Amino acid sequence: MSRYMSSRFADLEAYVPGEQPQDMQYVKLNTNESPFPPAPAVTEAVKAEIDRLNLYPDPEGKVLRQKLAELYGVKTENIFLANGSDELLSFFFMTFCDRERGVAFPAVSYGFYPVYADLYGLDAQIIPLRENFRLAAEDYCGIGKNIVIANPNAPTGRTIPLSDIEKILRSNPDHVVMIDEAYIDFGGESCLPLLPKYDNLLICQTFSKFRSLAGGRLGFAIGSPGLIEDLDTIKYSTNSYNVNRLTMAAAVAAIDNNGYYVANSRTIQANRAYTVAELSKLGFETLPSMANFIFTHSPKVDGGTLYQELKARGVLVRHWDKPEITGWCRVTIGSREQMDIFLEKVREILEEAG
Ligand code: PMP
Repeated sequence: MSRYMSSRFADLEAYVPGEQPQDMQYVKLNTNESPFPPAPAVTEAVKAEIDRLNLYPDPEGKVLRQKLAELYGVKTENIFLANGSDELLSFFFMTFCDRERGVAFPAVSYGFYPVYADLYGLDAQIIPLRENFRLAAEDYCGIGKNIVIANPNAPTGRTIPLSDIEKILRSNPDHVVMIDEAYIDFGGESCLPLLPKYDNLLICQTFSKFRSLAGGRLGFAIGSPGLIEDLDTIKYSTNSYNVNRLTMAAAVAAIDNNGYYVANSRTIQANRAYTVAELSKLGFETLPSMANFIFTHSPKVDGGTLYQELKARGVLVRHWDKPEITGWCRVTIGSREQMDIFLEKVREILEEAG
């Protein structure tokens, strides 16, 4: 920290993204990317857009918002676009969370939530999970704070039913409840059907996982027109052109090729079941996951050692040195070939551990 940085950030601990090695030698199962490239039509759409890069993008993103509205059966005024859902989360905190309204989220969840809370000077209420990392809806009912919950949760992969989300929404009518559905398209159930009933519901989604566009950086919110308008006010006070032309062109083409991504998701779900079954034969305990990753641990090797040993063998997974989860690793579900290499290395490590 230089002597020029604002003192209010003196204690800020920045988010640490998963490793992104640039040599590409690893089997990369650490940041929940898709192993599949974008649909061929997406590549074509991006190429066609390159010649228009001299022009700013549409700050309203009308064409893309219209496409998303059609896909999800809502109106354009229900959609907000962001530069990745990380940016959307940042806008959520900036727009709705202040000292008076506060914010609450689970103790084991996406690591960016506490960072944003700190960045925006909030004293977040951090709510522990129950047994087996289960989220209990009653812990959030009537708490009188804004709430962020990832469903499926990360890094656990566990889901909560719509009925629980509804209880949380109903009991906190004066606060915004953001449901982060970054991983919803791998078998989970979106809370979109609750939208007409609850104007305090804000759904956060991303093109980074199911739609193979992590490098394009596109997230979006679905919510009541009032919430979207508020997000827009902050967006236009921060960065009006937050989503670039190439990404918008890519996203429109991706929506037009939805079937390609649905088929890929089915493959990921099959590979997930296969990986869980194979790990179970090796004595691993894995939480039930509806995401494109699993959270798993072995009684024979602790999480940190497994991470290190896999890395030494060219396979990257994610491990956190936090007491509640230090025994565990999060493993992205990739192609069948990638999962076979991962499993082969795990077998090797277990054999060496005796
Ligand atoms: N929410 C959750 C729960 C995530 O795991 C991630 C990705 N790491 C994000 C949001 C952000 O994704 P992106 O910014 O790529 O849309």
